[in-house]
Amino acid sequence: MSVAPPPTVTLSDRFARELPEMAVPWQAEAAPDPQLLVLNEPLARELGLDPSWLRGPDGVGLLTGTAVPEGATPVAQAYAGHQFGGFVPRLGDGRALLLGELTDPEGRLRDLALKGSGRTPFARGGADGLAALGPMLREYVVSEAMHALGIPTTRSLAVVATGRPVRRETLLPGAVLARVAASHLRVGSFQYARATGDVDLLRRLADHAIARHHPAAADAPQPHVALFEAVVAAQASLVAQWMLVGFVHGVMNTDNVTVSGETIDYGPCAFLDAFDPATVYSSIDVGGRYAYGNQPIVAEWDLARFAEALLPLLADEQEAAIEVAVASLGGFRPAYDAAWSDGMRRKLGLPEGLDDEVARALSDDLLTLLTAGRVDLTSFFRGLSGAARGAPEPTRELFLDLAGIDGWLARWRALAPDADAMDRVNPVYVPRNHLVEEALAAAPDGDLGPLHRLLDAVTRPFEERPGLERHAAPAPETFGAYTTFCGT
Ligand code: AMP
Ligand code: MG
Repeated sequence: MSVAPPPTVTLSDRFARELPEMAVPWQAEAAPDPQLLVLNEPLARELGLDPSWLRGPDGVGLLTGTAVPEGATPVAQAYAGHQFGGFVPRLGDGRALLLGELTDPEGRLRDLALKGSGRTPFARGGADGLAALGPMLREYVVSEAMHALGIPTTRSLAVVATGRPVRRETLLPGAVLARVAASHLRVGSFQYARATGDVDLLRRLADHAIARHHPAAADAPQPHVALFEAVVAAQASLVAQWMLVGFVHGVMNTDNVTVSGETIDYGPCAFLDAFDPATVYSSIDVGGRYAYGNQPIVAEWDLARFAEALLPLLADEQEAAIEVAVASLGGFRPAYDAAWSDGMRRKLGLPEGLDDEVARALSDDLLTLLTAGRVDLTSFFRGLSGAARGAPEPTRELFLDLAGIDGWLARWRALAPDADAMDRVNPVYVPRNHLVEEALAAAPDGDLGPLHRLLDAVTRPFEERPGLERHAAPAPETFGAYTTFCGT
């Protein structure tokens, strides 16, 4: 009889080794009574990890950071950031740890990190270093929904309840989220390096980012300019995809903007229902800085802060460096417009080769109608393929201005839109705010049914399935205005 060898997980410490000034070796706090609540088996397999091993005691030890493989160096990462416009030179992982990097079966390096694993030297004031179960499940659901929608994002591998209550307004069950990312490098990481005044550190950080995310930049005449331009392009594309699906990030501080172009930090995020560019969900965003419609402008602002951090690498003289930065940042708007226009053409099922002006006028007029009618964005786009197939009534019913929508539908239908292609890009299911809340409310009592039903819907968002009708519908009126909370 042969005994299978124990599965091994190898975690490298590349970040900790290459950038020790930005990595504080640290350990997770032990969880008194760890219970694995959700495990992302497809993601585990994608990473070359055995789901049944992860469910066992050693696996749960890894997922809570208390049993890391030999050779791994868990670290709290240093970063800075502009929070709501104000610069904070030292933020860092106050309640997170980078356990190390995994090499997936395709040879890609992926960060394995924890959130809610205890206080680190970066925890400020009375911050407890912990996370409540609800927000960790929320990140799990929304990040996996984003992934299924084809939008670059950090992934969620597991949520483990710790058995340790956390004090917020009331006592709540605590949890640790295991997060997987292309990396956790942020604009704020560069701001931190820049603020140290150590140009060698800044250069090593930039080279590390090039190697991990934008390797083509290494062959460019000016690799660090090429890095900046690659991040500008990645963020322009990312934010265009958010806008097309109605995603409101809610806290686009520079520490929450990745260099990889993945969406990160699902704190106060939410999906739009009624279309309105001024929509804000976050309780602390009183000025509407991170409103849905502001997201492209804010992304560009965040990238300007990235450029400032990179200046010493862009040219020898500051004035020349600023010129280079301004020119490269100028690529954001055209890249964003192209990504958005292209995505909108696909959402509308428009034929290839259609004149840009025609497509743009159709899109702009639609946004005016959607805003005026406060129309549910997801229902509208998904229902629109029905209109292309000759059944416009469900779409018309969403609008008060019937003459307006009839005129628009007539112009659009004259272009012979492709209904099947539309159904491949317009989701039936997004994580609707009332269903997220319902799933989060049931979980502390041990009822994970609503969570799993929601996950089932949003992880196959384009496939309409019987039994999931509630998941396709907007919130009932009684749900009222929705408010989300940061960093809870
Ligand atoms: P966020 O709003 O999640 O982007 O976090 C901003 C900063 O606050 C980061 O430095 C976090 O590590 C820190 N932070 C948020 N919540 C906690 C907490 N409960 N304990 C310690 N640090 C925290
Ligand atoms: Mg953050």
